[in-house]
Amino acid sequence: MENKKVLIRIQNLKQYFPIKKRSIFQRERLFVKANDGITLDIFEGETFGLVGESGCGKSTLGRTILQLYNQTDGSTLFYGRSISELAPRYVGEVIKSIPDGFPKYLNEKKIHEATKVAAVKIVDSVEKAAAEEKVINREKSLNNMYLNMLRIAGGLLVHPDLKLVSNQLQELHQHLEKTAVINRKLRMAKKKLEAGELDEKLSAKVVVWKDELAKLMEFEKPIRVKLAELHAQAKNQPHYAEFVAFEDNGIDLSRLTREEMRELRSDMQVIFQDPYSSLNPRLTVGQIIGEGLLAHDVFKDSNSEKYTEYITKVMDQCGLAPYFIHRYPHQFSGGQRQRIGIARALALNPKFIVCDEAVSALDVSIQSQIINLLSDLKKENNLTYLFITHDLSVVKYISDRIGVMYLGNMVELATSDQIFENPLHPYTEALLEAIPRTDVVRQELTILEGDIPSPIKPPKGCKFHTRCRYAFDKCKVVTPKWEEIEPGHFVACHLRSKDADQA
Ligand code: SF4
Repeated sequence: MENKKVLIRIQNLKQYFPIKKRSIFQRERLFVKANDGITLDIFEGETFGLVGESGCGKSTLGRTILQLYNQTDGSTLFYGRSISELAPRYVGEVIKSIPDGFPKYLNEKKIHEATKVAAVKIVDSVEKAAAEEKVINREKSLNNMYLNMLRIAGGLLVHPDLKLVSNQLQELHQHLEKTAVINRKLRMAKKKLEAGELDEKLSAKVVVWKDELAKLMEFEKPIRVKLAELHAQAKNQPHYAEFVAFEDNGIDLSRLTREEMRELRSDMQVIFQDPYSSLNPRLTVGQIIGEGLLAHDVFKDSNSEKYTEYITKVMDQCGLAPYFIHRYPHQFSGGQRQRIGIARALALNPKFIVCDEAVSALDVSIQSQIINLLSDLKKENNLTYLFITHDLSVVKYISDRIGVMYLGNMVELATSDQIFENPLHPYTEALLEAIPRTDVVRQELTILEGDIPSPIKPPKGCKFHTRCRYAFDKCKVVTPKWEEIEPGHFVACHLRSKDADQA
């Protein structure tokens, strides 16, 4: 996967839901920790399968990536568009904070480094692991606070005059805000062109916008030259290369305004689990599929011929007959309804689709039809899927890589073959053993005992220790590290840790 382009980069994502206090005497505020520090890359064109028991936080993760929930902590970077293309508001705020923020970051980093050194010197292995865990958590929170600044300014942060750096970056950002407005109009015109809606009036406007954009690009050149000069001055400063490595043009979805996120929604869609409740019973199939197109201004008139033509084209792609366009959801079977849901997600020509248990509510024969349809559409439209399911046999068939979640954390991540041929985490092992098989001679079934613990007060140490057949003392106290055990195969278990004295 190393040659593949990252489309979504999730770093230390946390999604906590506050619980209402039971009485005025209750001091501690409790949270349901649905996602608790997830780090993950999803590559362009891949199908990433996400598995785990009900209640482990899979669907919450999918919805948080789409920012349907306000992310509690961490960042979700989207590379389908760049910062320069969108010029989001948070970038301007981060740039303004550089002169004060960077010295603060250096100071906190110094304290953190000292704690790190102290942790290494601890002899007792359990105490050492607990101290290292604190170091990792501190590092994560430092990253959360300052990472966007490092991503945006990178090597320029070591320049001796941070006010000058901030002013120059602000000048560039203000300029990019202007180009973003024109780019937005051009992108919309392109969508209209793809949908066959581009008329003469709009074509004339496109010519004017392209001219304006070309002029703006000319103004951008001297700003870029000044920034290059600042880079040249910073190059000789210590740690320049270290900070250049942080530079990143991904958009942090968790920092976008509602309007900015709305603009990106056309690139990121979702197919819901329940084909019955996810479709509005009062709307016809045509209205359901076309809702997003009208909301995003791709079409203005829902009575136009081109609109109907476009809708029927999308329906045809999803295996729905054109004459279904005026029918209501209750007139369809579960499989057909799911096809409507898929057509709705596809209509805006997205780059990324979250399939949230998209086939779980369907009969086995219909499941295979829908999975084949999703696979074909992925090839035709160069889509990227996050495929959430609790059904391991389905995920094996469709996924390139699989992530296994337990109680809000990722416990194993590898290619589909690696997970099925060589599962390293005891939880993955138990899930695989639970898949129904038709072997005449089969090994004794190992049952995963007990229920998934509460995500409000999860067990200390390894969250799986209450149900793990290999658990030992250390598992009850120390959280296992997330490590790459073999190329592309990550796992969080003391038994598999590379650290010799971990197990
Ligand atoms: S860390 Fe311990 S409890 Fe957790 S999965 Fe590994 S062996 Fe089991």
